[in-house]
Amino acid sequence: MSFFCPEPYKNLSAKTTGDWYPCCISGEESVHYHNMNIRENKILEFYHSDFMNKLRKDQLDGNMSEEVLTNCKKCIIDERLGRRSRRLKMIDKYKNDNFDILQLDSIKIKHIGNLCNAKCLTCAPSISSYLAQELYDTGEYTGPIVIFDDITKTYLEGIKEAIPFLNSIRIVGGEPIINPRTWEFVEWLVNNKATDTQLIFTTNGKVKFKKEHILLLKNFKEIKIAVSIDAYGKRNNYIRYPSPYEKVIKNINSYLELTKNIYISTCISALNVGYLDELEKDISKKFPNIPWVNDNIVQFPEIFRPEILPEEIKISYLKSSKNANKFLSLDIPSDNKKFYDMLRFLTKKDIIRNTNMYEFYPEFKKYEL
Ligand code: SF4
Repeated sequence: MSFFCPEPYKNLSAKTTGDWYPCCISGEESVHYHNMNIRENKILEFYHSDFMNKLRKDQLDGNMSEEVLTNCKKCIIDERLGRRSRRLKMIDKYKNDNFDILQLDSIKIKHIGNLCNAKCLTCAPSISSYLAQELYDTGEYTGPIVIFDDITKTYLEGIKEAIPFLNSIRIVGGEPIINPRTWEFVEWLVNNKATDTQLIFTTNGKVKFKKEHILLLKNFKEIKIAVSIDAYGKRNNYIRYPSPYEKVIKNINSYLELTKNIYISTCISALNVGYLDELEKDISKKFPNIPWVNDNIVQFPEIFRPEILPEEIKISYLKSSKNANKFLSLDIPSDNKKFYDMLRFLTKKDIIRNTNMYEFYPEFKKYEL
């Protein structure tokens, strides 16, 4: 059976390490099959590489080769669990597209690095410098704190070559708004007249755009902003620590002065799957015209997968929350070991951050370690 996926034709990505990936949820180890990165390899070189051609062909033929198994493990797991994977969503999204011609929908810009002002519980040091610092301080991480790639001539030439075949550029961090490298790159796009391309920011909404940045952004034909919010009120601050909910809401209002093309994105995890209704109610009241996107379910770290929750908690969420029914099923077995690993993880974070999980999840108290 075919495992065709539009992503390697449509949306290429680079991670904060500078390595190229066929899509934004590719398994990190897939880089070992090509060793191509933004410093040495232009984007179209990666697009046309032997690795990408083999991946596309294997997917089309349903040949679950090592490359497919390594690169596509998130979609494989989602589909095994009966969920609508990114692959299936993309098949719908691009159903009328011609894959024989080069027409990229987006590239993700991550060379700006992991500089971030939040340390979300579900995040990793490669994506948040703030989290990297916390883990470094507790001796749980020894890698670099701030990770980024200097933009090379090869990289910029590659972007220039790709622009005629590109609908949008998505700037992802870390937190791109606070990162000076974002603004150097945006300025380069303006100076190189690459302003017909839609520019998309993925932000945690903690800060506003500065005046000089708004002036730069006004050069672009279209700006789009994806704001990540994982829960209503103080629970958002706990999960996306620290992210004061009201401040994020206020900042969304300021983004609306720049563009109406905004959506709110929620990453579904064991920490919010029972509490989505209150978020939906509040954002639909405050922003009736802003879409809410909630199709990304945490797979890694595994301890935050919604399905690991004990059956008793799942049943109570399924009873109390309309949205929980979209993401939880009693047919998928709970995982006690992972649930207790999650409690251990949260207990440690509560001590470091002076927070208290039971304030937000009284249903976990019964299982206290
Ligand atoms: S199958 Fe999933 S992981 Fe693989 S390229 Fe497509 S979207 Fe990415």
